[in-house]
Amino acid sequence: MSIIANPLITDFGRQAERQSITKAIFLDRDGVLIYDKEYLAHPDHLELIPGVETLRTWQETYRLIVVTNQSGVARGKFSEERLLEIHQKLLTELDVHGVFLDAIYYCPHHPEYGETCLCRKPNPGMLLAAAENFGLDLTNSWMIGDRSSDIAAGAAASCRTILLGDSPSEPMPTHYLTSLYEIENLSLD
Ligand SMILES: [Mg+2]
Ligand SMILES: [Zn+2]
Repeated sequence: MSIIANPLITDFGRQAERQSITKAIFLDRDGVLIYDKEYLAHPDHLELIPGVETLRTWQETYRLIVVTNQSGVARGKFSEERLLEIHQKLLTELDVHGVFLDAIYYCPHHPEYGETCLCRKPNPGMLLAAAENFGLDLTNSWMIGDRSSDIAAGAAASCRTILLGDSPSEPMPTHYLTSLYEIENLSLD
């Protein structure tokens, strides 16, 4: 059983004043923060989805933590170093909108290309590892994703869940939204 890949913890996430935050919004990457381009393999192809700026409202009271399956690494589509470059670009692009992430957790594995892991969603491994690292209360946290596997991972970690779009999902999410803009209508607490 492989160990979870080292997360990228940002300078923002390391700030002492953020240590008192005990809840998180977990965010899927592809289809939530950036357009889902199959096996995005270059930072230049990264494109933010309008609506990400709404996360500014929540980052004062929640950790913002990306949890993303990136089996393109196991499949040999791109290297882990390239993935980290893409994630640095993501942080830079979000900075422009005043959005700051605490951490990016990623699963580089795929069961058909190497070992089976506990971090690949729908497993909750990345959420559980982040909870341990940041001292999070998962029952007061949220998982936002665009696929059933995101909702399943969130539910398995005892989080409430938001499904963006209308993909079929088992289990059902706590809320359905069509875009992140609608998050402003929700009371997350
Ligand atoms: Mg997705
Ligand atoms: Zn994994």
